[in-house]
Amino acid sequence: MKTIGLIGGMSWESSVSYYQVLNQAVKQRFGGLHSAKCVLYSVDFAEIAALQKADQWETAGEILAQTARNLVAAGAECIVLCTNTMHLVATAIEQAVEVPFIHIVDPTAAAIQQQQLTTIGLLGTRFTMEHDFYAGRLRQRYGLAVVTPEPEQRDEIHRIIFDELCLGKIEASSKAYYLAVINDLVAGGAQGIILGCTEIGLLINQADCDVPLFDTTLLHGQAAVAWSLAK
Ligand code: GLU
Repeated sequence: MKTIGLIGGMSWESSVSYYQVLNQAVKQRFGGLHSAKCVLYSVDFAEIAALQKADQWETAGEILAQTARNLVAAGAECIVLCTNTMHLVATAIEQAVEVPFIHIVDPTAAAIQQQQLTTIGLLGTRFTMEHDFYAGRLRQRYGLAVVTPEPEQRDEIHRIIFDELCLGKIEASSKAYYLAVINDLVAGGAQGIILGCTEIGLLINQADCDVPLFDTTLLHGQAAVAWSLAK
């Protein structure tokens, strides 16, 4: 088993989920007392969120690149960035270390392709829904068509992530809102929905919804374990 390096804290609520996914996946494979070999470097999200807001992506990229170097120095053999949004600076992190970087879009797209879907709805922060680093990779590398919510819906989806989910608040009204937006995306042609923010799985899951959901936290964590256990 190889050691997984996690860049976490964005937010720590979802880093908890990653830690659970990694350990559950290893336990499922080997049973007994087996658990995942991993190193977590957790940043102060207030600093990163301020840089996002100020559009200072380069500075944020430098901080996360240094975090990746610290993880490698601590024994990490791959890097898992535990947030969709910060994949906007994935290239800076990839260039900072020699070990593999497991990009969150890749296992997500593989799961979508496995179900033979071609048009997918994307929920996430405004950065993830509106910049091209995410939908662009889905389109260019995997040939997927991506639909996103209307502008005012994107604002509310984003607000709920930062004002509630990243603070550990789970509200029934917000869950209903997300499900209504999912309905609109399906009406607009989406055959499945990417939960493209690592906290959304705390609010909704497959039991809430008829259309296939692709929970990036789960898929990313499972992909990291598959890599860690591969011969
Ligand atoms: N965890 C979230 C994501 O997956 C949002 C926090 C952030 O902006 O990094 O995008």
